[in-house]
Amino acid sequence: MTTVETLLRADLRDFSGYRSARSEALTGDVWLNANESAWANPVDGAAQLRRYPQPQPDALRERLARLYGVAPAQVLVGRGSDEGIDLLLRAFCPPGRGRIVIAPPVFGMYAVCARLHGAETVDVPLVDGPGGLCADLAAMGDAALAQGASLLFLCSPGNPSGELLSLSAIAALATRLRGRCIVVVDEAYLEYAQAPSASTLLAEHDNIAVLRTLSKAHALAAARIGCVLSNPALIDALRRCQAPYPLPVPAVDAALAALAPEAVALTMSRMEAVREARARLAAGLRGLAGVRRVYPSAGNFLLVRFADAGAAFSALLAAGVVVRDMRAMPQLGDALRITVGTAAECRRVLAALETLPTEAVA
Ligand SMILES: *Cc1c(COP(=O)(O)O)cnc(C)c1O
Repeated sequence: MTTVETLLRADLRDFSGYRSARSEALTGDVWLNANESAWANPVDGAAQLRRYPQPQPDALRERLARLYGVAPAQVLVGRGSDEGIDLLLRAFCPPGRGRIVIAPPVFGMYAVCARLHGAETVDVPLVDGPGGLCADLAAMGDAALAQGASLLFLCSPGNPSGELLSLSAIAALATRLRGRCIVVVDEAYLEYAQAPSASTLLAEHDNIAVLRTLSKAHALAAARIGCVLSNPALIDALRRCQAPYPLPVPAVDAALAALAPEAVALTMSRMEAVREARARLAAGLRGLAGVRRVYPSAGNFLLVRFADAGAAFSALLAAGVVVRDMRAMPQLGDALRITVGTAAECRRVLAALETLPTEAVA
């Protein structure tokens, strides 16, 4: 049995999902099967919006497949990678009993989706060492097997850790968990890292799923386009759990335009500029008296520890600069996460932090 056959919720094995007006392969030139209006809305001049959209638009699926180097049947497109996380939980965690493994501090949606679904979250904390905040993949694998978790979430580059995981370590973990647990690799920030994707492991591992998004490097956060890449059986299982028409036509059109070769080339050419700005911002922060540690980062953000993170947050805010306060997260009581902005924005950050206290005020 494949991992998907083993781990798909038993109560969903014979579930085919909602049969929408677009799911049957019918042809005709008079479409009266979906109770759509016979007239376009007066503001919809080109009549783009009158009909329900394709559930998984062929053109977008093909473009994304080409972008990520997989086959179209290996792509599920959804409302951001956030929807991919939710669908993985729904398909592979029996409600009220399922378990997932995560490595906090990490992106909050894994635990949020688990909680909403009645699944338990098993925490295997990141380890803070000389190389940075690092996931302990062996301990995560131990926890997955001991607790019977069906999903294990890796984030690479890690948010907020900035850590880039090696593909060989991910492959070894997937081999160990084959048939027992799906290794989900969230690559929301991979474009910033100059590193190969875990999607190159899909051919050899039926228990890997990769999350990609157009929200970060492609600058389309408001379009809400993200995907899951995995084997076709897993993609098909997720599709059956997804809403009938998840992708609005205007968002799909924006994504298609952004994925034209010239647009992708321009987007990718910006990554080098982000890496340069990130290095400059990190160096500037390391030179400041009140900064205790700037973690190495493969993403478009820096995780920074301060002598007094509250004072740093307030100083930035007073200068009109809003950063992410990480102080409520485990292990990060003295940390802020700062997105790498334009050169001018990075200068604003450094200027605002010039006169920081070097000791926390008691
Ligand atoms: C921003 C972010 C996402 C969000 O993705 P959407 O595609 O916008 O839903 C997913 N994972 C991580 C780790 C993120 O930081």
